[in-house]
Amino acid sequence: MSEKFQAVVIGGGPGGYVCAIRLAQLGFKTACIESRGSLGGTCLNVGCIPSKSLLNLSEEFHKVQNLSSKGIEVGEVKLNLEKMMKSKDKAVTILTKGVEFLLKKNKVTYYKGTGSFKTKNEIIIKDDQNKETIIQAEKTVIATGSVPVSLPGIEIDEKVIVSSTGALKLDKVPKKMVVVGGGYIGLEMGSVWSRLGAEVEVVEFLDHITPGMDKEISSEFMKILKKQGIKFNMQNKVEAIQKNKTGAVVSTVDKDGNKNNFDCDVVLISVGRKANTNGLNLKVVGVELDEKKRVKTDSMFKTNVDNIYAIGDVISGPMLAHKAEDEGIAVAENIAGQSGHVNYDTIPGVVYTTPEVASIGKTEEQLKELNTKYKIGKFSFMANSRAKAIDDAEGFVKILADETTDKVLGAHIIGPHAGELIAEIGIAMEFGASSEDIARTCHAHPTFSEAVKEAALSVDKRAIHS
Ligand code: FAD
Repeated sequence: MSEKFQAVVIGGGPGGYVCAIRLAQLGFKTACIESRGSLGGTCLNVGCIPSKSLLNLSEEFHKVQNLSSKGIEVGEVKLNLEKMMKSKDKAVTILTKGVEFLLKKNKVTYYKGTGSFKTKNEIIIKDDQNKETIIQAEKTVIATGSVPVSLPGIEIDEKVIVSSTGALKLDKVPKKMVVVGGGYIGLEMGSVWSRLGAEVEVVEFLDHITPGMDKEISSEFMKILKKQGIKFNMQNKVEAIQKNKTGAVVSTVDKDGNKNNFDCDVVLISVGRKANTNGLNLKVVGVELDEKKRVKTDSMFKTNVDNIYAIGDVISGPMLAHKAEDEGIAVAENIAGQSGHVNYDTIPGVVYTTPEVASIGKTEEQLKELNTKYKIGKFSFMANSRAKAIDDAEGFVKILADETTDKVLGAHIIGPHAGELIAEIGIAMEFGASSEDIARTCHAHPTFSEAVKEAALSVDKRAIHS
């Protein structure tokens, strides 16, 4: 007799494992199936965590080389890439094992293998020895995430032509890296290798980087990255990538029809990700996909098939770990008859470069499109005492508030610790705060967060320090 579960989650990424834990907390007998051999999904294994580890380590390497101007003399600084990679891998192992412990602690049964539907209520799990186990599922949550996409006709070999996964484990610093795509993943990985000594050149189809980001912030971001030595080739379409003895040549055509060739030893393709529904055998149960081949769900995360739900990167919305986690919790609560909910207007997005870039809510471009009248408050980190004290004063805070009600509609920060500072605005927006509410809140001195307060004051043109 196959084992019977009240809830089965397919996929052990931040959406899936969080959902499984919440289901177990709510009293469901729960199983979580993961095919990659370790829990945590893209995020912990080949995404957020290893990339942030390398961003931090490469930043430290870069900083230590520039300490003498600040009166700290160090000896010769050498890179030991193998050790650096081991340090990153250690962080990944600790965290993935931590998730395994959390599943155990919450009495979630963890199946290692690939899950697919046999019927609406039966899941086949095939392990790496091709051994099959069938389990019964009253409710199933699909949380199978996403995978990188390439360009038509270009094959990723993870050595010369790499996706983000390959870029996280190069065994030597490339002399030159071409990054195809100026989104956040390409820029983060480009920053890592640039700081470690590679010449990095970005090729982007659009006329701006980080699509969807407030334009003023994204142009400031590009200016800063250029100062750091990263080169940008905008409005260039990749036509071909030819591998050769030393690496590859990326051939592009620009908006005026000029052809360009970029010689390099590594090409990073970071042009996006696609929902991963491979191998789930969705056809047998009739789960519908949308036009982008993502699992189609309603606002309760239900698919068109009773008792089958989906969350995270495999459905619509921003491909972010915290969005997947929040959906995991919401769907579990909905399954338990509660009112699980995700507020898509307050999902922050952060780019972990130096400086960091963080956004929440509407951009100026979106407000214009919606015909919403808004006020802008801005404050530069150049006038923030903490930022000046530690000589880390690039960037600014920008707050957008409704012209009539003063309600905060969005905020965009480029500067030190932007990823942490944005949380304050998130809370404010969740509580429907006005910019005046933020401006009247006492912020400790000297902190970076005073720049948020000053930007809020500046919405009513009463910033003190500018
Ligand atoms: P995933 O994390 O993709 O997990 C799905 C899991 O399901 C996978 O482990 C997969 O092996 C498993 N699976 C698939 N099919 C099956 C099956 N049939 N049976 C069993 N298991 C299956 N997001 C952020 O918020 N912040 C960041 O800083 C950030 N940085 C990133 C950096 C990089 C380089 C990349 C690639 C991504 C980054 N992301 C970041 C995005 C983030 O990783 C994803 O949004 C997040 O992991 C999505 O979670 P998920 O649970 O939906 O899917």
